[in-house]
Amino acid sequence: MISRRKRLCIALILMTVLITACSRIKDKTKYEETQIKMGTAMTIKAYGENGEQAVSDAFKRIDEIERLTSLNISTSEVTSINNAAGKRYVKVSPEVFELIKESMELSKMSQGAFDITIGPLVKLWNFGTKDARVPSSEEIKEKLSLVGYEKIKINEKESSVMLEKPGMMIDLGGIAKGHAADQVVDILVNYGIKSSIINLGGSNVFVLGEKNKQELWTIGIQHPRKVQGDGFLALVKESDKAVATSGDYERYFMVDGKRYHHIIDPKTGYPADNGIMSDSLVLDSTLVKNSSMIGDALSTAVLILGPDKGLRLIESLDGVEGLIATSDYKLLISSGMDEKIESISEDFEYDAQRR
Ligand code: FAD
Ligand code: MG
Repeated sequence: MISRRKRLCIALILMTVLITACSRIKDKTKYEETQIKMGTAMTIKAYGENGEQAVSDAFKRIDEIERLTSLNISTSEVTSINNAAGKRYVKVSPEVFELIKESMELSKMSQGAFDITIGPLVKLWNFGTKDARVPSSEEIKEKLSLVGYEKIKINEKESSVMLEKPGMMIDLGGIAKGHAADQVVDILVNYGIKSSIINLGGSNVFVLGEKNKQELWTIGIQHPRKVQGDGFLALVKESDKAVATSGDYERYFMVDGKRYHHIIDPKTGYPADNGIMSDSLVLDSTLVKNSSMIGDALSTAVLILGPDKGLRLIESLDGVEGLIATSDYKLLISSGMDEKIESISEDFEYDAQRR
C-alpha cells in the first residue's frame, strides 16, 4: 500500500511536471515547442529556417497577452478594469482597448450571444475548479443584472474603459486565445515561415501555408464525446485557415445526469442548452482579418445560438465555414465546407436538409 502522504507527493510531482511541461523537437527542417499558457497546452510547429527564433518570440508574445488579459493575474489590465467597475475609467493599452471594442462588435453580430461581460456568471459557476456547483436561481438572477455588453463604456480619446455597475466583470476567455493565435501567425510570417501549425489548446488552431508542396494540413476536429485525441468528429484538409472549436466537453461537471458546461447563455445565466455539443468554424485568413480572433468568439456564439441560428450566422459571413455537432448526433456542414471534409465519425449522421 502506498501511504496517503506518498500518494500526495507523487501527485504533486506529477502536477509540477505538467505545469512546467515544455517540450522541444528540433531538426534541420522543423522546430516544435509546447508550453502551458493561459491554463492550456499550446504547441507551435514551424517548418523552415528561423523556426526556433520565431517560435520563441511567439511564446513571448503569448506571455504578453496573458499578462494583459488574464483574470488570474492581479496586475492585468482586465483585472484593473474589473476592480474599478462602477467607480472609474481605467486607461488601457491600445491592444486591450481594441480587443474590447472588437468583442462588443462581435456581441452585436451574434445577437448578444457572445458577451465578454459574462464574467460574474462564469465566476459564480466556477467551472474548472473544485468549487464548481449549480447556483441557485436567485444567485443567477442577481448576476444576470451585471451582464450586458452595452454597459461597457469606452473613451476613445483616453483609450480608457469603465464598467457601468459595481460587480461587473470582463472575461476574455472566449476571445483572447484567438487573438493570440493571430499575433503568433504575424510573428511567424515576419520571420519568413511559410509552413506552420499553431495549436493553442485545441480550441484555436491555425494552419499556415501547406504542410509540404503536395499536401494540405489535416486537422482533426475533436469528437465531443470521446477522450481527447481518441476519436475525431471529422478530418478537414486546409491551408491558411483558422479553425476555432467550442464545445460542451471542455470544462463541465455532471449533476443528476445533466451536463453543466462553461459556455453561458447571457439570456438565461445557465450553460447554453440549445442543441449543440460542439461546433468548429473554419475561417479563410486571406478573406477575414484577425481570423482566429473572430473565429474564437463566433464559435462560442454559435454554441449558444443553437444549430439553426448558428448555421445561418456562419452562412451569412464571407470566408467563414463551419460544422456543427448537434446533441442528437447530426452533423451540419456549411455550404462551402463539403469538399474540405476528408471523413466524418460514423457516430454522426450528416444532415444536409437543415442548411
Ligand atoms: P471558448 O468557447 O472559446 O470560450 C469559453 C470561455 O469564454 C468560457 O470558459 C468563459 O471564460 C467565456 N465565456 C463563457 N460564456 C461566454 C459568452 N456567452 N460570451 C463570451 N465569453 C463566454 N484557465 C485555467 O485553468 N488557468 C489559468 O491560469 C487560465 N488563464 C487564462 C488566461 C487567459 C488570458 C485566457 C484567455 C484564458 C485562461 N484560462 C485559464 C482559461 C482556459 O484557457 C479556458 O479553458 C478557455 O478560456 C476556454 O476557452 P475555449 O477555447 O475552450 O472555449
Ligand atoms: Mg471561442
